[in-house]
Amino acid sequence: MKHAPAGAGTIPPAQSPGAFFSTHPSRADTFTESVIREMTRLALKHDAINLAQGFPDFPCPPELKLAACEALNDDINQYAITWGAKDLREALSQRVKKFNAMQFDPETEITVTCGSTEAMMASMLAIIQPGDEVVVPEPFYENYGPDAQISGASPKFVPLADDFSIDEEAWKAAFSKKTRAIILNTPNNPTGKIFTKKELSFIADLCIEHNAVAITDEIYEHIVYDGHRHISLGSLPGMEDRTITIGSFSKTYSVTGWRVGYALADAALTSRIRKIHDFLTVGAPAPLQRACVAALQLPESYYKELAVEYDRKRQILYKGLKKAGFACDLPEGAYYMFTDISSFGMSDTAFARHLVETAGVAAVPGSSFYHTGGETKLRFTFSKKDETLTEACRRLERLT
Ligand code: GLN
Repeated sequence: MKHAPAGAGTIPPAQSPGAFFSTHPSRADTFTESVIREMTRLALKHDAINLAQGFPDFPCPPELKLAACEALNDDINQYAITWGAKDLREALSQRVKKFNAMQFDPETEITVTCGSTEAMMASMLAIIQPGDEVVVPEPFYENYGPDAQISGASPKFVPLADDFSIDEEAWKAAFSKKTRAIILNTPNNPTGKIFTKKELSFIADLCIEHNAVAITDEIYEHIVYDGHRHISLGSLPGMEDRTITIGSFSKTYSVTGWRVGYALADAALTSRIRKIHDFLTVGAPAPLQRACVAALQLPESYYKELAVEYDRKRQILYKGLKKAGFACDLPEGAYYMFTDISSFGMSDTAFARHLVETAGVAAVPGSSFYHTGGETKLRFTFSKKDETLTEACRRLERLT
């Protein structure tokens, strides 16, 4: 501080930023930076193949690129309506009715956000009061930890069973009078688990009994294998007005950098989400929202082909990892292989660093998916070109 207020008498001693930081704790001090994004930076530094952060290294469908260029040429350069361009909300409403068996009024029940990341944060800020408990199955996608810290939620982590199914007794025990919400990610990152109708019904019953909101992250809904079927929790009876369904264009259409996602919820929940969303971001990128309308016009065959492509990539990485000595199972959905590294005799973070520096392959340490534990796990993504995966496998095999 350079100037004392008039009449203050003495000039207070200058405060260094360090002094300010030590006397003014912040919610930002309660969590670390994203380990997933840090691994990307490390991969770039060491020129390693990035099987850490889940994003494709292949192009998005040409229809989307064309529509994005057209939007810019048409001067769609200014803000869209804060909760999303009307034509995109209308197209989403149609798509969700057909694919997810849920009805949302585009005028009052759909919010287009800056990716599913913002949809999750805006949803939590909209419904959580500090101290409210939120049930989170573990392992969980890294973001949910900081999301809880930022919104003031008190997370109740519930371990999934060894086969990643729902442990009913553990779930019942996790609910209390303070439970305000649950976070469910299906198909699941990092495990690949797709929750079954029976598991979803059990969770729905608990939410109804305890008057809790379900926030479901369904970003991998189209990336499913072996005849598994994605079911939206919000489509179950009694869940219509207590579910926030989160989705995104990122994974389905290979445009993770566009940052266009959405939150679907009944009008009462949506009005709160929209207010938070408005003051956080004003809105998602307008020209890209226009291009996302073109994405929703792709034929049904696009989604089938996407799953077939990812199935082939899944097999390439699975075989390579097995050959290199990693213990893993084929995931039911999403695009990650969650491996056990016990046989390598190193902890996850040390091993992840070793892999980047010596083998030239980046993966995510398992501990970033747990509040405690996960040191025997490592996550690899297979959202890459076949040749990228083949080269990564060749490098990993040299480890043994
Ligand atoms: N969901 C992706 C992952 O788990 C990307 C995360 C991100 O950086 N937004 O790797």
